[in-house]
This record gives sequence, structure tokens and C-alpha cells, in this order.
Amino acid sequence: MKIEENYSIKDINSLRINQFAKYFCSIETVEQLQEAIEFSKIKKIPLLFIGEGSNVVFTSDYDGLIIRNNIFGKIEHDKRIVEISSGENWHNFVKWSLSKERYGLENLALIPGTVGASPIQNIGAYGKEVSAFIKEVKTINTLTAEERLFSKEDCEFGYRSSLFQNKKEYFITSVVFGTNTDPDIDISYDSLLKFFRASSMEIETLTPKDVFDGVSSLRSTILPDHNKEFNVGSFFKNLVLGEEDFKKLTKIINVPYYQTNSSYKVSSGYLLEKGGWKGKGVKNVRISEKHASVLTTSGSLDGKEVVRFANSIIDDIYSKFRVKLEIEPTLI
Ligand SMILES: Cc1cc2nc3c(=O)[nH]c(=O)nc-3n(C[C@H](O)[C@H](O)[C@H](O)COP(=O)(O)OP(=O)(O)OC[C@H]3O[C@@H](n4cnc5c(N)ncnc54)[C@H](O)[C@@H]3O)c2cc1C
Repeated sequence: MKIEENYSIKDINSLRINQFAKYFCSIETVEQLQEAIEFSKIKKIPLLFIGEGSNVVFTSDYDGLIIRNNIFGKIEHDKRIVEISSGENWHNFVKWSLSKERYGLENLALIPGTVGASPIQNIGAYGKEVSAFIKEVKTINTLTAEERLFSKEDCEFGYRSSLFQNKKEYFITSVVFGTNTDPDIDISYDSLLKFFRASSMEIETLTPKDVFDGVSSLRSTILPDHNKEFNVGSFFKNLVLGEEDFKKLTKIINVPYYQTNSSYKVSSGYLLEKGGWKGKGVKNVRISEKHASVLTTSGSLDGKEVVRFANSIIDDIYSKFRVKLEIEPTLI
């Protein structure tokens, strides 16, 4: 395993922020991970794990060791249960599951990133969250070098959140998923339903492959391509408001919402659009013309520029609508 010094992280984060890591290595096995942990202990420096870098914002140079995860592998336990190594690409896993008649993940097609990062913020799209399919998360505690198995309940999953966001010492080595053996079509999410209604397809006879293709096509149409307009997907979380806060907001602006028992989910993109941010920006960073939830950069910029711009948006939205937007990706 090669450890590089003064490593430019520009090509390993999807915002293409140009900062430097004091040390960098790629690992392909758990033994290499242990070696990297040992190195950081000797040097007395912090560790940071990275998958495909599609949900991180580097706010400055990283004065430690960045470990890039390239641990691959799949173990099929039975028709429902499968264990996937954390470095596998998420979308490839969804595609593979479909080919093996393991159903349910189709709504989560085309989300960038690794399988190992999927539990971190409990990735979700089109009405589904990965936590619905996670049985166990296998980890190594990098402080003690011990293995630890987290049950789904241990992971404390919430909307774009999990226990791992506050327990950064755990490196996820693999994730155990339980999928369905029978097709489980769910296109109830508003924009997905509209997409299929507008198509010539018969809704009653849709297959999981149709949903996979539909979600992929919809995402490609509405989201900017992160390899050309550099981004991390939604930059701000949707708001989850209690009844009182929701009522206060609706006195200022009439918003579309999604209601669960005790809360109201409001699209951050809607507020950004109504706040006049769509397509607006400064020198190297802007809100996408295509999708108001997505912040894009022109690449090769300083991380602080992104944070300054994001904070100016948070302040502006607060002054207009009295709600505080929260940044979705991990700030480093
Ligand atoms: C165009 C675009 C669209 C997107 N759409 C969606 C969407 O629809 N829904 C959604 O939820 N997200 C979406 N995202 C965000 C992103 O795809 C997910 O958060 C994804 O899971 C990030 O994976 P990654 O491997 O790139 O993680 P990274 O960005 O590399 O890391 C993210 C966080 O996870 C930690 N981490 C990574 N690997 C490990 C590991 N093995 N063990 C422990 N910690 C680890 C990192 O330290 C970091 O804190 C989108 C991003 C882009 C660019």
C-alpha cells in the first residue's frame, strides 16, 4: 500500500475543491486498512475515510491521512440476504440486484457513491431510504482496531442521518442488505408518479426494471451531470417542521409539503427557487439553473468559497422565510 504525501484532493471530491491532504492512500483490503490505522497512530494524525467523494465539502486542507475505500466483494447468503463490501459502487449494486431478481432498490438507482457511504446519511430518493433494506453494518473501530457489528436498530437511522455521522471512528467494511424476492413497485412519490403518468406505460403492469429505467431517466433529466457541473446532489436538506413552525412558514409563503404523522417535509429547493436563488451565484459557485437544490462549482476552487456562498444563502432564506436551511453533505 502506497502512502502519498501532500496529495491534491481535487479529483476525489465531486465539487472538485482543490485542497491538499497531508497523506493519502487507497485500500483494497481490511489488512491494508489496519496498516493505514497503524501509520496514523505512529504519526499521531487524524484519519478520514472517503468513498467516491460525492457528499463531502473540504473546507480547508486536511492535516491527516485520507483513506480511499476500494474494498470490493459480494457474498450472497440466500435469496434475500446479501453482504456487499463497502467500496462497491452503489448504482452498480442496484443494477446487479435487479439482474439477480433481488427487488426493492430501484427507486435508489443512479445515486452516486459507494455502498459503504450509503448508511452514513441514510441515502434516499423517490420515497425510499436505504435503511429500509439494511439488516446489519459491519465496521472496524479505528481507535481500538476491533470489529463491531451494528444491527439496523443500532444505526439510529433518520432522515439523511445515522449514528455514524457522530461516530466517525467506525470504518464501514460491508453492509448486509435484505431485498425482496417478489417485485415491490412503489411509484407513489409525486414526481415519479407524474413521470410514469406522462409516459405511454401502463402503470398497473410496471416491472422493477421499468422503475429502475424511469428513475434513471428522470434523474438524468432533472439533475445537472456532476462530472460537468460539479456538485454533491442536494446541497441543503429538505426541512422537516413541526406543526407550529410549519404554520408560521405558511403565513409567509404557500409551500407544497409532504405530511407524516407529526411533521411536515418542505422542499429546500422550492424555497431556494422562490427566494430567487435558482441560477444565481458568485465567481466559481452557484445554484444550478436546472435544479434549485443543487449547488454547482466551476472546479479548482477553495472550499471556503463554497461555505461562504452556502452561508449567505442560509442567511438570506432565513431573512425571507424565517426557516434555517441545513447543509446536507459532510463538512470537513
Ligand atoms: C449528482 C448527485 C446526486 C445525488 N443524489 C442523492 C440522492 O438522491 N439521495 C441521497 O441520499 N444522496 C444523494 N447524493 C449524495 C451522495 O451520492 C451520497 O451521499 C453517497 O452515499 C455518497 O457516497 P460516497 O462514496 O461518495 O461518500 P463520500 O462523499 O466519499 O463520503 C461521505 C461521508 O461518508 C463517510 N464515509 C465514506 N465511506 C465510509 C466508510 N466506508 N466508512 C465510514 N464512513 C465512510 C465519509 O467520511 C463522509 O463523511 C448525490 C450526489 C450527487 C453528486
